[in-house]
Amino acid sequence: MEGDEITPFRIDAIETRKKSCGAIKSVFASAFPGEKPHICNVCSKGFSTSSSLNTHRRIHTGEKPHKCPECGKCFTASSNLYYHRMTHTKSKPHKCAWCPRSYPTPGELRAHAAAHARHATLLTNGYK
Ligand SMILES: [Zn+2]
Ligand SMILES: [Zn+2]
Ligand SMILES: [Zn+2]
Repeated sequence: MEGDEITPFRIDAIETRKKSCGAIKSVFASAFPGEKPHICNVCSKGFSTSSSLNTHRRIHTGEKPHKCPECGKCFTASSNLYYHRMTHTKSKPHKCAWCPRSYPTPGELRAHAAAHARHATLLTNGYK
């Protein structure tokens, strides 16, 4: 016997097979030369541009290319990251005295505080 080692390379084989799926895409593309030549190789949906197909494919891959530089959290859409990053911004020095909210400008805080004041007045004077 010449040392039949059990190697852990089966995983590599699986990975290689996954990669070869890319070839299927080009086959689909040539089969449908119409307006939407970019075919998703997972659900066969067609797209007119490769970028829209790439965006769509994130649904299947779970890919989140928009990474927050502050905490490393990832998002599928840039808008989601934009709103997330607002939670990090420390540029909201105008804190509300009645609740944990804070605002970047005094005007916004005043508008918000006015809502509290209105509510407080109603509570004090009673609803008429
Ligand atoms: Zn798809
Ligand atoms: Zn973050
Ligand atoms: Zn408030």
